[in-house]
Amino acid sequence: MDRRSILKNAGIAGVLAAGAAPAVHAQAAIRWRLASSFPKSLDTIFGGAEVFAKAVKAMSGGKFEISVHAGGELMPPFGVIDGVQNGTVEMCHTVPYYFYGKNPAFALGSAIPFGLNARQMTAWMLHGNGRKLMNELYAGYNMVSFAGGNTGTQMGGWFRKEIKSTADFKGLKMRLGGALVGEVMTKLGAVPQSIPGGEIYQALEKGTIDAAEWVGPYDDQKLGFNKVAPFYYYPGWWEGGPEVDFFVNQKALDGLSAENKAIIDAASQLAAVDMLAKYDAFNPKALKQLAAAKTKILPFSQQVLEASFKASLEVFAENDAKSPEWKKIYADLREFQRDQVLWFRFAESRFDSFMASQKL
Ligand code: CA
Repeated sequence: MDRRSILKNAGIAGVLAAGAAPAVHAQAAIRWRLASSFPKSLDTIFGGAEVFAKAVKAMSGGKFEISVHAGGELMPPFGVIDGVQNGTVEMCHTVPYYFYGKNPAFALGSAIPFGLNARQMTAWMLHGNGRKLMNELYAGYNMVSFAGGNTGTQMGGWFRKEIKSTADFKGLKMRLGGALVGEVMTKLGAVPQSIPGGEIYQALEKGTIDAAEWVGPYDDQKLGFNKVAPFYYYPGWWEGGPEVDFFVNQKALDGLSAENKAIIDAASQLAAVDMLAKYDAFNPKALKQLAAAKTKILPFSQQVLEASFKASLEVFAENDAKSPEWKKIYADLREFQRDQVLWFRFAESRFDSFMASQKL
């Protein structure tokens, strides 16, 4: 044993004798990687993961650091669930309904046509059975979900021609986010298209597609859709309050101290509230600018909403037969929604509609 090893060993012995080793271990830095499904240009939705990571770092006194990677940086945007499942990354930030193909029940953790609004979704997740039931499904993929944001009720998208009734959906090639609304639109005669955000503008301009939905005024304005499709319809009845989630690999979560688990939980809720607040704060200005630029902002007709609702119920019944997980979670969500709609009809709805009719 040379002099250097003796000194080194003596040093370790000294540390152990002083009982400092466990303290050194507890202070060890934790470094995780988070794969996002979103591009950096979507500052509100991609930014949710940055708000989360910053909060985790601050709450842990800098000891828990999570690097945030944009969609495509570590893995394809829609590969992030697989990345968490097999432990390539510790966590991801994504929209559960992207993974409808794995099991239709994934959509229930985010948004289904004519589902819950953002407030009701949070109520179902935190104080209904939502989070518990969704995590039972996600356990089959080695992961646990945490709230990761919400956009609020989305807009119904951009159309090159007017939509007066569902007859106008016949043969309409429309870019839609999510396979579930695609199935509903197919029943109404439309031809759903799956196109990444960055390519929608060109497809609309060339006429390769007739319509496209994205998010709402703030995000849509950035992509310039009003220049190529003048009709902007509302509401996006397929996304009344779509939840964005953080998913954490089960083994990675199990390896955290109780303190760090609490930090993950608190930071995720902070990021979720922040995202919805940003959309609510930023959408009005963008909507006014779109209106000033001569966008024709129109509501979907009662006939469009009623026929779409009926078609949605047909797809839901098909899913009941296809997936026992869908059947169980969907029944719980609908029961919760029945009471939510009943309650919201009273104070909230009356207050909102009165305020909307006043000159402020
Ligand atoms: Ca959308």
